[in-house]
Amino acid sequence: MDIFDPDYLVALFKRPFANNRNQFSELADGVYYAQMFTDHFCEQVLGRVRHFETKCGTDEPETANSMHWNAITTKQLGIDPLVHSLVAFFDSEISPYILPERLQLQADSLHGYVVRYGPSWDQDLGFHVDDSFLTLNICLNDGFTGSELVFSGERCPIHIDTGSFAEEQFCIEHKKGSLVVHPGKNRHHVNQITSGERYNLIIWCQSYIERDSWFGALETRECMDFCGMHSLLWPGGIG
Ligand SMILES: [Zn+2]
Repeated sequence: MDIFDPDYLVALFKRPFANNRNQFSELADGVYYAQMFTDHFCEQVLGRVRHFETKCGTDEPETANSMHWNAITTKQLGIDPLVHSLVAFFDSEISPYILPERLQLQADSLHGYVVRYGPSWDQDLGFHVDDSFLTLNICLNDGFTGSELVFSGERCPIHIDTGSFAEEQFCIEHKKGSLVVHPGKNRHHVNQITSGERYNLIIWCQSYIERDSWFGALETRECMDFCGMHSLLWPGGIG
């Protein structure tokens, strides 16, 4: 299975690394968008999903997480090796050139799943944060409307339900082959899908260091550096 657009791969090795940053639009601190995957890649992954749907009929898949009733784990799809090589490529060739240092953690576990939005599947998704320090979100198809991904800013666990500032709010329309990269703790939701079906491959990059500090903050009730409320509470930047 080809993972990346061959043209992209050739360009990757020919061009200076600095140019690769230009492929990614930075939408907020740590949030990036790039049109990156070929139709072939998307169709290969979707083929696995269709096979799973045919094989399992309407049986409910193993729950991928507490928010998606209709997601299918990459383990169930048999594409965990693809997920691992994709993240390895991202870690070595992309992450150091686009991500702030705080998000360049070593992932000690990955959780991959394919979400399905549509009349027969999930219709939307409520406001939440991910169980990840970084999330990769790849759109696998076109032919749908609505279902945009809407961000509301990064928060620590203490300030998770606070409002957001205008500059923290933005909306991303998925396109087939697009990659959205975002910090897991940037709060987000998915708008109602208004026509068609949308399939996305989601990968949560998880780190026990990040998880420990997240739950540590919950116990100490101290705001964390990345939180959008932090600079308001600590104007001198000292947390
Ligand atoms: Zn905070």
